[in-house]
Amino acid sequence: MDISSILQGGYQHPLSRSWQARRHLTKSMFMYPIFITDDPNASVIIPSLPGQRRWGVNKLEEFLGPLVKKGLESVILFGVPLNCQKDMQGTPADDPTGPVILAIKKLRELFPTLYIACDVCLCEYTDHGHCGLLHGDGTIDTAPSVQRIAEVAVNYAKAGAHCVAPSDMMDGRIKAIKRGLIDAGYGNKCTLMAYSAKFASSLYGPFRDAAGSAPSFGNRKCYQLPPTGRGLARRAIQRDAAEGADIIMVKPALPYLDIIADAAQIAPDHPLACYQVSGEFAMIHAGAAAGVYDLKTMAFESVESMVRAGATLILSYFTPEFLEWL
Ligand SMILES: [Zn+2]
Repeated sequence: MDISSILQGGYQHPLSRSWQARRHLTKSMFMYPIFITDDPNASVIIPSLPGQRRWGVNKLEEFLGPLVKKGLESVILFGVPLNCQKDMQGTPADDPTGPVILAIKKLRELFPTLYIACDVCLCEYTDHGHCGLLHGDGTIDTAPSVQRIAEVAVNYAKAGAHCVAPSDMMDGRIKAIKRGLIDAGYGNKCTLMAYSAKFASSLYGPFRDAAGSAPSFGNRKCYQLPPTGRGLARRAIQRDAAEGADIIMVKPALPYLDIIADAAQIAPDHPLACYQVSGEFAMIHAGAAAGVYDLKTMAFESVESMVRAGATLILSYFTPEFLEWL
């Protein structure tokens, strides 16, 4: 055997195996996505997302208290309004009495050390279910969409969000939100996490179940990236970094590890997030239930691959499990 052929000495012991990683998973790498609805006492099971619920503001203490004790450091809030009056502009998005703003304030009060990010989009709040404002012919009207989204983001920051994360994919919204934050005095107080490379994926199904957010007509493919669009993803990452994003995100994660690796190379000085989306989570559960693999082993393999690709932050519904496992 030639010397150059020998590798196994480096990974025959569990400890030397662990040293093969450039970076190790930690609890602080996990951000937990949670669904906040407008019934303050809600605790409603979401059948397609094992273990996840829609929560009302009054239930946040009993839901998150034990997780914070186990080391939960960050959450990202998704508003799921079921009773509000939706309109063309998505007016309820930043209603001061709406679920997201109430939840931000409640969480700041309950858990002073918890980092609170907010998804920013209009699709939950528009009557047509699209992420922006529309022209008469049903296409996206970019300029007012961006303006409205920036307004919502600033209002979340004013309510106390540590981070705003626009998921709408409208051109120019990162620059507009950053400008809005600066002008409102939050330029140095609120992180801007850009869903930069968000692909039009089949893996969002359970999320749409949870959030009730399928568009009433058409689809979101004209503003989400085509799964083949590696070049577009790279351009979006470059653009968002240049427009003032503090964190870059790739979504979904597992089918797009090459894009995560690209982002790590294109924006090496930014934290890099990836979103292990609802369909990825449901798929790992379904495979485990079918006896294809062990749930915990597969959950680790999935997120370790994301860290290997370059992610420094993972949005995952497995967060409560990892707080136990790590
Ligand atoms: Zn949206």
